[in-house]
Amino acid sequence: GAPPGGLYSPGDPLVLLQVDTLESSVLNSSSAWLVEFYASWCGHCVHFAPTWRALAADIQEWSPAVNVAVVDCADIANQKTCGKFGITGFPTLKFFKAFSKSPEDGTKIFHPGDSIQNLRQSIITNLEMHKETWPPACPPLEPASVEEIRGFFQTNNVTYLALIFETNESFLGREVTLDMLQYENVAVRRVLSSEEELVKKYGVTAFPSSFLLINNGTFSRIPVQMEARSFYTHFLQRLPGVTRGPYMPTRAPDTSKVYMADLESALHYALRVEVARFSVLTGERVRALKDFVAVLAKYFPGRPFVQNFLRSVDRWLRNVRGSRIPYSALKLVLTNRKEVAPAVLSNNVTWVGCQGSEPHFRGYPCSLWTLFHLLTVQPAPLAQGGADHNPLEVLGAMRGYVQSFFGCRECAQHFEGMAAESMDKVRSVDEAALWLWSRHNRVNARLAGTETEDPQFPKLQWPPPELCHPCHSVVKRRQVWDEAAVLQFLKAYFSPINIFLNYTE
Ligand code: FAD
Repeated sequence: GAPPGGLYSPGDPLVLLQVDTLESSVLNSSSAWLVEFYASWCGHCVHFAPTWRALAADIQEWSPAVNVAVVDCADIANQKTCGKFGITGFPTLKFFKAFSKSPEDGTKIFHPGDSIQNLRQSIITNLEMHKETWPPACPPLEPASVEEIRGFFQTNNVTYLALIFETNESFLGREVTLDMLQYENVAVRRVLSSEEELVKKYGVTAFPSSFLLINNGTFSRIPVQMEARSFYTHFLQRLPGVTRGPYMPTRAPDTSKVYMADLESALHYALRVEVARFSVLTGERVRALKDFVAVLAKYFPGRPFVQNFLRSVDRWLRNVRGSRIPYSALKLVLTNRKEVAPAVLSNNVTWVGCQGSEPHFRGYPCSLWTLFHLLTVQPAPLAQGGADHNPLEVLGAMRGYVQSFFGCRECAQHFEGMAAESMDKVRSVDEAALWLWSRHNRVNARLAGTETEDPQFPKLQWPPPELCHPCHSVVKRRQVWDEAAVLQFLKAYFSPINIFLNYTE
């Protein structure tokens, strides 16, 4: 489901920019940006969207060096900004070098034949045009020389160096270099077929082909079925001792844990991306935001910095008089004030327990479910009345948030349908936790086997027996839930001590 009017949705592997985020993201950035300015009513744009989405997925690993983004210029709120960026037709693709200073610094990119490969190559060509302002995360892309290779392991602290021998026109070496940029302990360099000394030294007879040099002085041809990008990348990513950098878990996450990275990413995304889609909040949205932040401030078992942050946002919202809030005003409150607390709440998303096997799976919706389940089972702070508080406090806030802000509108409608049907029958906080659990299972049942299901994470009736054996009992030879056991399990599973702060633990 796309957000209202837009062609892209938060689940897409690209950055959704708009009036208040476009300049701050694209200008003075340490990475380059490739932005599609589109209009949701434009037929070409609709036609082009799958290509753009596929391109973004294809080069997602390059993001520390170059980010892919979109702006919907048909959205009234964005129109002036699109004008400032000199956009007159749609779609317009613009490349912004790292540390670009003004909206005029973007270079137009054409999309001949809508081919992902052409677009990818034109990104590389544009990356290579950086001079003094080379993006810090971008590895060198120019061909390696004999001298560089000779002294490589003396000057670079890595175990492996992959050399990709190729002709001058080939982009393969640069693509693999960028694909591997987030991986540690391995470097990739392209060597031109005209570099005779190296060609002779390694006995290279085919272009492209590639060789793996190890820092103990040995080398061998990289054994691949095909001399192609995905084969090289696959081989290099799996070398012993090669790990992906700080953005990813080093091990597969454990499904019996809850990860703080997912929860904080949900907060960031909910408050700074989803709410930010509305340049001015009015009426229901103001109320929904206030309720949401109030339950976060009250129940979110975050790190002290994050709790303080949520409380200060809550205080600010409580003091808002009148019925409208411009997002620009809220944004100031949501911006980390670095001098007060470093990295209060990340400005990015990191999925761990909610990491999908493909970029379009899981992520934000997974973290939103997790967040609300967690909130339903936190005990009320003692100072605020102990146990006898409103049983609908958290569920009501979730209902309001989903209805007002959740970018998946189809999801919001379904959820509202379930809420309207039975949420008001909930009589206690325990019933509230069970209500959300059972409705989530209904959603799981509905989605099982559909295209939104990540094949690595099948939609189960949750928790499965391996996670909670006592939750399942058998009555008259039929599997049934033992709700008391489920409740106990939910409280343990979503308790603060089961939240892992450091996902490599
Ligand atoms: P998710 O279903 O997102 O679950 C996240 C995690 O919660 C799981 O990994 C598991 O650890 C835990 N969990 C699973 N089931 C339960 C349970 N019953 N109780 C407690 N914890 C549980 N997608 C659609 O295509 N159509 C829709 O109509 C739709 N409606 C949605 C409504 C809401 C309110 C939300 C938040 C999301 C909705 N989605 C919908 C998205 C969909 O439900 C999933 O979030 C998404 O497909 C990602 O699935 P996932 O495998 O990561 O697990």
